[in-house]
Amino acid sequence: MMQMIDLRSDTVTKPTPEMREAMASAQVGDDVYGEDPTINRLEAYAAELLGKEAALFVPSGTMGNLAAVLTHCRRGDEIILGDSAHTFLFEVGGVSALGGVQTHPVPNQADGTLRLEDIKNAIRPQNIHYPTTRLITLENTHNRCGGVPLTLDYMEKVGAFAQEQGLQVHLDGARIFNAAEALDVDVRQLVEPVDSVMFCLSKGLAAPVGSLLCGREGFINRARKTRKQLGGGMRQAGILAAAGLVALQKMRLRLAEDHARAKRLAEGLRRVSGLDMEPTPPPTNMVYCSLEEGIPYAGEEIAGFLEKEGVLVGVTAKRRFRLVTHYWIRDPDVKNVVQAFRKVLSF
Ligand SMILES: *Cc1c(COP(=O)(O)O)cnc(C)c1O
Repeated sequence: MMQMIDLRSDTVTKPTPEMREAMASAQVGDDVYGEDPTINRLEAYAAELLGKEAALFVPSGTMGNLAAVLTHCRRGDEIILGDSAHTFLFEVGGVSALGGVQTHPVPNQADGTLRLEDIKNAIRPQNIHYPTTRLITLENTHNRCGGVPLTLDYMEKVGAFAQEQGLQVHLDGARIFNAAEALDVDVRQLVEPVDSVMFCLSKGLAAPVGSLLCGREGFINRARKTRKQLGGGMRQAGILAAAGLVALQKMRLRLAEDHARAKRLAEGLRRVSGLDMEPTPPPTNMVYCSLEEGIPYAGEEIAGFLEKEGVLVGVTAKRRFRLVTHYWIRDPDVKNVVQAFRKVLSF
């Protein structure tokens, strides 16, 4: 069978041999009783790393965001978030369907931010007719906006503004370590302005399963109960946390490699005729590109041709692709992907 170069997402990362060893020898217990020593270690490590009081291991980023929103909000409350936010677009409407929480989207700018003015205008005044605005949700790095990191300065501005307005801030930090790496700032500083943050072990950090929700101790205690209510209380899940510890301790430190390969991939693709590249180099591990107008095929068709060449890409719009670099993408793959595009687009 052909060895595929899979750039659809960094979620396709399989566990490393070191993770599999750690999983096989992990000490475990019943985590619903708080007795899984490996999960307890992972939660303590994550809280320390992010500079928060406590952390909660959850099966997925989607559940982490959902548990956060449900813990911050009551039914009928409203959250302000970007119209390109993962929570708004790709989490099956969970906060509304399961939490009775209303979403109030405001435009995401190209750099992934929400304008403070737009947030301000979205806050509901005191009035018997209105829902209560409770929470602002940000996303860093911003997936749909090209994997762009939100700067420390911006995070601090939103944090200060929220405090002034009496609102909470939750950060969808699925790829927060990519952001910290790209900005060259301490992740603790970057998440200091937010009340809660979720990050994923299962993306660029290459663990097979899991995310962490971090915040104040009281908040995390309540979120633990929300997680149980959502059916996310796991038992001997220390075998998963063991891989997560390797992800956090080791894989976190090599994300710059993925960013460098994304830049090289974009440079290579820029020289392929038939492709429109974004004007700026990719800020983290995501490369977005589109088919030029003259190309007489849809994105899905081109993706099909690429698959025959051993390359898998994400199709994010009719003629737009997303290519994500990760641990299992090596230097020769970058060259091979450019070659595959050139072959497929030469008519
Ligand atoms: C992947 C992702 C999530 C959800 O994580 P899952 O583990 O896939 O549920 C949330 N937010 C962002 C920005 C993501 O990229």
